Order: sequence, then structure tokens, then C-alpha cells
Amino acid sequence: MSAPVYLDYAATSPVDPRVAEAMSRHLTQDGIFANPASRSHMPGWLAEQAVEGARRQVADLIHADPREIVWTSGATEADNLALVGFMRANRARGRHLVTSIIEHKAIVDTAHALETEGFEVTWLTPGPDGRVTPTQLREALRDDTVLVSLMAVNNELGCIHDLKALAEVAHAGGAAFHVDGAQAAGKLDLDVQRLGIDLLSLSAHKLYGPKGIGALFVRRHPDIRLEALIHGGGHERGMRSGTLATHQIVGMGEAFALAQQEGEADQAHIACLQTRFLNGLADLEGIHRNTDTRVALPNIVNLAFDGVDGESLLMALRNIAISTGSACNSASVEPSYVLKGIGVPHARALASLRFSFGRFATEADVDTAIAELRHAVVALRR
Ligand SMILES: *Cc1c(COP(=O)(O)O)cnc(C)c1O
Repeated sequence: MSAPVYLDYAATSPVDPRVAEAMSRHLTQDGIFANPASRSHMPGWLAEQAVEGARRQVADLIHADPREIVWTSGATEADNLALVGFMRANRARGRHLVTSIIEHKAIVDTAHALETEGFEVTWLTPGPDGRVTPTQLREALRDDTVLVSLMAVNNELGCIHDLKALAEVAHAGGAAFHVDGAQAAGKLDLDVQRLGIDLLSLSAHKLYGPKGIGALFVRRHPDIRLEALIHGGGHERGMRSGTLATHQIVGMGEAFALAQQEGEADQAHIACLQTRFLNGLADLEGIHRNTDTRVALPNIVNLAFDGVDGESLLMALRNIAISTGSACNSASVEPSYVLKGIGVPHARALASLRFSFGRFATEADVDTAIAELRHAVVALRR
């Protein structure tokens, strides 16, 4: 059996071979393997140089200073550090956080954990396009609001927030602005200066880098204070201790540098694939776009297929690797909280699938997906 066509880039992407090659030079004895914190010998200095080179590559993509980049194990940890670290460090100023109900679980679950610590959270409901408006945010702010956290691009829908307008509202209300940029980095302009972002969570593996590495941008002017969550050794200016994973970091740096060079070409390629995909399904009846494609990145499209069950459809689509918007609990299948959160009816949410395209997807892949889908949907409706 041949490998299925991979259209689940929003879950993770394959590592770019150029990234894998750079990583492999930072592992073995003939490579740069030493501890970047070893200050007493040349191998240590070389490792430190590699880490600092990668820090600049990541900073460059978001127009930050390298000193504003803190390495983490991924966007999940970056989200935890941003929310918990910031709320704890600023608790004397206020205890109120504003976020939305369709954030990634790394935000939703962390905000719930903060509620059990005595912090208060306002949960905004986005519109049907998946976006919170600046007016909505303004109305949610209170005197004791210290932080607003909203994602740049939603991982199930692809919709893009108006970050600049939202940052202005947060700042006018005296709050700092955190953005989960895991799905957005390298795919849209995430210039932290222009947009007014104070904290930005990043991940390597959604952008052709390795899993298990990410970063948090922490603004220096004005200075954003965080309480560390992981103690020991005082690495990363005390914000995140632990021996730096040189090979992972080099991989993330290389992936972000490639995105800076090739991101626009990638997005143009992906937009063509999306158009081809949607055109190929255009005459099939009973398809609804949960993604409002007018306000979304081209790489994610979430579709509902009337009259079919999402799980059965997924089963029938053996040759395409995609994901449902639903999570299986042991007893029942629950629709995605994101789809529910934007008001998609229960049955339609259960009949929804997320297709996501990327650098290595081809027109032939898209054609295979169209053919399989058409066949399966018609068969299941019969
Ligand atoms: C994937 C993802 C995360 C988690 O990133 P990891 O690096 O896998 O921990 C967080 N937020 C969003 C929006 C994501 O898509």
C-alpha cells in the first residue's frame, strides 16, 4: 500500500530536508555537539554560536531583537509561560485575563488552570468567521485587565485576526497583548513592531522544522516581566532553565530562515492548490465552508459534508491523511469546540473535515483527494 496523500499540514509538517541536514551537523562527535552553556572550551563556544545564529534567524522573521527570544519546547510551553508567567508576575497590578473560546487547548486549558489560582478570565465568543472584533475586546476590558491573549491564525479554520487593531485596543486599556502565532509564522507578516505584539508564541514543526522546539518572543521595550515556570541554572535570562537543545534550535532557525526566503512562494503555491481543490468539489452539492475563505490563510480549509457522518467519511478516505474537527471521547464523538464556538450546528460540525496544504503538497495530491472525496461522499449519501 502506498503512503496516503498528506493534507494535514496544520497538525504538523514534514521536516524540510535542508533543515534535517543542518540538524544532523549538530549531534555527533564530528559535529557541533557540546553544551552551549560550556564557557571553558571551543566546542562549547561553537555550540553557543550555533544557538545564537538560530536565535537571530527566528528574531529576524518577526522583526524582533534576538535578546527577545526565549527557547521553549514548543508553542504549548510558550503559551504556558506567556499566560502563567505574565499573570503571576503582574498579579499586584490586576488579575484579569481576556481570551476567546476558540483558542488552541494550550491557551484554553492554561487559562482554566489560572482560574483555579484565583485569576479571572473573560471568554470572548468570536463571530461566525472565527474572529473577535476590536469593539468586542474593548467592551471586555476592565480596570484590572493585565493581559489579552488571542491567536493570529486559528488552527482549525485558518481565519486571521486583525492583530494590529486588537493590540491597539489592549494597549489603550493598559493591558499587554499576547499572540499564539504557531499557525501564522512564515505564512503571514508577523512583524511584532508594526503589529504591537508584546508576547508571541512560536513553534517549529508547523513550519517544516522539528517537533519539540519553539520560542516565546518577550518584548524588552517596554519591558515585559515574566515569572519562570521551569527553574534550574538560570538559562534564557532566568525565564526558562534547561540545557539548550542545539540541534532542535538550529533546525528551528534554519526553518525560519527558509520561511523568510520562500514563505511568499510557498503561500502562492498553496493558494493555487486550495483553488484547485475547491474548484474540484464545486459541483458537489451540500458542501459548506466552515472556513470563511475571505479572511483566512489559503493553507487551511474546513468543510462540512451534509448527509454524511464525519467519522464514516474519514474511514472511507483511506488514501488521504486529514483530520476531523472532532475529538473522540471513549463513549461518544464530540464535535470540535472550535466549530461549536463559531455557531456551526451540531450535526454539521460532526460532518466536518479540515484539509491543510503545505510546501510539499502537489497538484496530483489534490487531484487524488478530490477523486477520493467525490467517490466517498456520493457512496455514503446513497
Ligand atoms: C500546534 C499549535 C500549538 C502547539 O504547538 P506545539 O509546538 O505542538 O506545542 C499551539 N497553538 C496553536 C495555534 C497550534 O496550532
